[in-house]
Amino acid sequence: MKPALRTRFAPSPTGYLHVGNAYSALLCQQWAETHQAEYLLRIEDIDHTRCRPHYSQAIIEDLQWLGIRWQGEPLFQSEHMHAFRQAIDRLYEQKAIYPCFCSRREIREEIIRSASAPHQHDAATAHYPGTCRKLAAHEAERRMRIAPYAWRLDSARVRELLPAPLSWLDEHGRHHAVHPEHDLIIGRKDIGVSYHLAVVVDDGQQGITHIIRGKDLQEYTGIHRILQHLLGLPAPRYHHHPLLHDTQGRRLAKRDHSAELRAMRAAGVCPQRLRHFLLQECHGRWPFQSMEEVLQTLGKPG
Ligand code: GLU
Repeated sequence: MKPALRTRFAPSPTGYLHVGNAYSALLCQQWAETHQAEYLLRIEDIDHTRCRPHYSQAIIEDLQWLGIRWQGEPLFQSEHMHAFRQAIDRLYEQKAIYPCFCSRREIREEIIRSASAPHQHDAATAHYPGTCRKLAAHEAERRMRIAPYAWRLDSARVRELLPAPLSWLDEHGRHHAVHPEHDLIIGRKDIGVSYHLAVVVDDGQQGITHIIRGKDLQEYTGIHRILQHLLGLPAPRYHHHPLLHDTQGRRLAKRDHSAELRAMRAAGVCPQRLRHFLLQECHGRWPFQSMEEVLQTLGKPG
């Protein structure tokens, strides 16, 4: 009989895994073991402008080296493009999204013109002013035949489509209310889909019941919940764990070479020690600033 609970680790192959990703993969595995849940691996490789197949392979090898064990074969998100296109069609039928032809420059200029953001800097962070939302249907259809476009969520229309109130649930059973506030991109101009849409469709298709991921993604959970609702998908529970930080209190990032799993493995780090250190000792802080320091504490016993 299939277990009722299922979680996943979903890295993007835009570089080698670093210790921050390892921390997330381990917390997710620990949760699965504690709850006797299934643990799946999904490679989120839809962005062909940034993802590389050799990083996908390296991620799989490095996770195996670390002692992460998942059920079944890893799922490659890029093989699911048809499912994402079907989801876009469904959202379009509901008029929950509209095509947007604007370039970044046009958006910036429009924001400045409308004086909602008087400075260049404000324009870069301001929300999309809804230019293409106002296009007549026949004009949008005409332009769709001749120009590239992104898909944006029509937040005003979505407010009509949502039951009030809509919320997502965290691991303590607390509800977080969701409000569609601006017209986010749901399908990118260059790749036709977005992280938000792909993650929601695949979590639904794979029957994921619990999502354990870093706090940096919590701000997107509202939009994920909205998409689940519009696409008729079940709502998983979310646990956003604190991120691993370096000695200066900055979050670990791909630029720190000595924090890459691949480099640690080549240098002779002991994966059991690394696992134990991350789960039991580090308390969210990666204290090492060089590979020498890493090896002093986590090197293979002698
Ligand atoms: N692919 C995403 C990332 O690497 C994580 C997706 C998720 O856990 O929702 O940041």
